[in-house]
Amino acid sequence: MSDYRKESFLALLEGKMTRKRGKHLEDASDKDLYYVISSIVKDEITPKWLKTQEKYQENKTKQVYYISMEFLIGRLLQSNLLNCGMLDICNEVLKDIGRNPEEIYKHEHDAALGNGGLGRLAACFLDSIASLKYAGQGSGIRYRYGLFEQRIIHGNQIELPDYWLKEEYPWETRKADEAIEVRFGGKINMHKKLNGDFEFSYEDQDKVMAVPYDVPVIGYQNEVVNTLRLWSAEVTEDESKLMSDPSSQYYHHLDHSHSIEQISGFLYPDDSSFEGKELRLKQQYFLVSATIQGILKNFKATHDISLAHLSEKVVIQINDTHPSLAVPELMRILMDDENFSWDEAWKVTASVIAYTNHTTLSEALEKWPTSMIQKLLPRIYMIINEINERFCKGIWFDHPDLRDKIPELAVIADDQIHMARLAIVGSFSVNGVARLHTEILKNKEMKYFYKLYPNRFNNKTNGITHRRWLLQVNPCLSETITEAIGPKWIQEPNKLIGLLRYSNDAPFLEKVGKVKKQNKETLAKLILNQTGIKVDESSIFDVQIKRLHEYKRQLLNIFHVIYLYNELKENPSLDITPRTFIFAAKAAPSYHLAKEVIKLIHHVAATVNYDKQINSKLKVIFLENYNVSLAEKIIPAADISEQISTASKEASGTGNMKMMMNGALTLGTLDGANIEIKDLVGDNNIFIFGLTSDQVHDYYQYGGYVAKDIYHTDDRVKRILDQLNSGEFGHQEIEFKDIFYNIMYHNDPYFVLKDFDPYIESHELVERSYRDKNTWQRMSVTNIAYSGKFSSDRTIKEYASEIWKL
Ligand SMILES: *Cc1c(COP(=O)(O)O)cnc(C)c1O
Repeated sequence: MSDYRKESFLALLEGKMTRKRGKHLEDASDKDLYYVISSIVKDEITPKWLKTQEKYQENKTKQVYYISMEFLIGRLLQSNLLNCGMLDICNEVLKDIGRNPEEIYKHEHDAALGNGGLGRLAACFLDSIASLKYAGQGSGIRYRYGLFEQRIIHGNQIELPDYWLKEEYPWETRKADEAIEVRFGGKINMHKKLNGDFEFSYEDQDKVMAVPYDVPVIGYQNEVVNTLRLWSAEVTEDESKLMSDPSSQYYHHLDHSHSIEQISGFLYPDDSSFEGKELRLKQQYFLVSATIQGILKNFKATHDISLAHLSEKVVIQINDTHPSLAVPELMRILMDDENFSWDEAWKVTASVIAYTNHTTLSEALEKWPTSMIQKLLPRIYMIINEINERFCKGIWFDHPDLRDKIPELAVIADDQIHMARLAIVGSFSVNGVARLHTEILKNKEMKYFYKLYPNRFNNKTNGITHRRWLLQVNPCLSETITEAIGPKWIQEPNKLIGLLRYSNDAPFLEKVGKVKKQNKETLAKLILNQTGIKVDESSIFDVQIKRLHEYKRQLLNIFHVIYLYNELKENPSLDITPRTFIFAAKAAPSYHLAKEVIKLIHHVAATVNYDKQINSKLKVIFLENYNVSLAEKIIPAADISEQISTASKEASGTGNMKMMMNGALTLGTLDGANIEIKDLVGDNNIFIFGLTSDQVHDYYQYGGYVAKDIYHTDDRVKRILDQLNSGEFGHQEIEFKDIFYNIMYHNDPYFVLKDFDPYIESHELVERSYRDKNTWQRMSVTNIAYSGKFSSDRTIKEYASEIWKL
């Protein structure tokens, strides 16, 4: 590091500290430093931000708009410093003046405007779009309350509100002059024009202002700064005038403004499950309407061609069906405001919108009651109705072979609007997020749509930004990699494959092993701090971190822990490699069974961790409040990555990719992107077990699985299930009866018992493999070497060339 650069950074720090915080550097708190360093980054990027946007305007560049109800961005300071090329300087200067960078960065509130994988994917995509110099922006909601903060009290999850805007958020810029009016409800008037066409006008609508807050998205050392635009719902000026008018109904307006601000009030905390609440529908339309109006306004300001050419300059990617009202909203504006005919408007709409499907879980499918949409969005309802009529007629006349499938295909059926069907019909691209998932869409879940539109379906296997998830979170491993193969992998992650040449190089393997050991020591300190439990740093760190859901089968994991506990109790001198099982997971607040599993994990932990006879061999750790920042601390220390969803249920997974990239070995089912990991690293560098997706589908379709049979024939299983009812874990005998009932009397819908035996066997193989350090490290390096494919740079290049045509 040049002394000159360090000195000038230090001078910047001193100057800003006095001007912005009125303090000398030596008196500055960590928080002062956090704000001042953020402000240095903003100064650095603001000219680039303006220039990037001006260039897009000047060059009339085609833009992609990524609309998502969720952006799980986490903290930004460290990754912004990294992408600006200032992270090393900043860290060194801080250390020179006796400060700990970590302590400073953690003053940023972890922005949790998302639930899990889907929202984190959106954040990784923005990073890749900017780093690859594509013209793209994210569009989301500036929720005042992000995903709840989780506390655990006696094993029970407690949710606390996440008021993340309590203190100034340094990355956002309010753009009040770019606010857009969004309208709800009201009456629709139809007039017949002279040419026979209908004209629509609206009356008595509720008006809401959508005020954008822009967050910069900094490309990796490339001068590009894109935008994440987050919309906030506010009262219109008219309304606020009325509020201050003493003659008006003050309380009426106060009440009204409160309900308007509710629209961007909080993030719904459900992951992979649909909540048909009216407020959620309002959020969705608010996001979509503000975004589309903004897109059209910008198009008109930039281009002098007709909106009929929109698709040459704009593409809209919708993240799941949550923004699928984009289809009727774009139709509405083109017809009612821009005087397009239906056919003209449809041509534009269906060539601009592309849809990403994220799940085939039936409980996640969005279906809104027609009455709700009709009342809240009467004109949008008329348009959806017309889309449906024309679509169904089209099948009837052009695809007589599919006539009997119309009830399964119709956008409106059983007084419900099926948002996935609307999204498929109204878009030019439908993609799944991993190879298996896309095949399931094409051949099972959406097979008749696939028959109708074979060219519309395509796969884009998810990815993660290697800048955050390797370079930033694991600097020692990154350095070790660069020492071996040079720095080119940072720009081209596929170059990680060069590590294969070192997979038998003893000194290199040793270095990688040492880095993992250090990372485990760091995590062990965090665990001790947060839980008071001391874990063995040379034990296998076996990690399952993700939302808590039945299909993700944390239950199978804890059953294995109970099994090990039972084995050790029977034979305390059993020679096993010590294990540390690490969990982190939030359950949706209304998801009873998920919360029961959290409680079970805690009660098992309480039994195991304090049992002197065995606790040198077995520890169970639950780290509370799983979020991006916690993931960043756990992932570099993982030896085993648990990816054990019931086959066919996890569309892709991205946690699997983050851990692979940090040298963990996957213990998983043939589900989601696990399959693609296995295809790359080969059977010898991964631990695969359990039912296949086809077997799972066959059981669902033809039956033949009886959970009780396993209970009655496998002593290990019987013992565990009986322990749930015996009070051995927990305070009373009935503590875990709901879990017991779900398995025994709902026939174990996620095949926990069916996969139990192969899972145990796989774990035994893990345990044996770990004993040979050399082999293990070779496997670990092989995984890192192949992980380049899972950089979201690869994913985004595929979107850009095959869908967005940028
Ligand atoms: C990556 C990530 C996820 C997704 O994890 P999966 O294992 O793919 O479900 C969820 N939450 C956070 C905070 C993440 O960083």
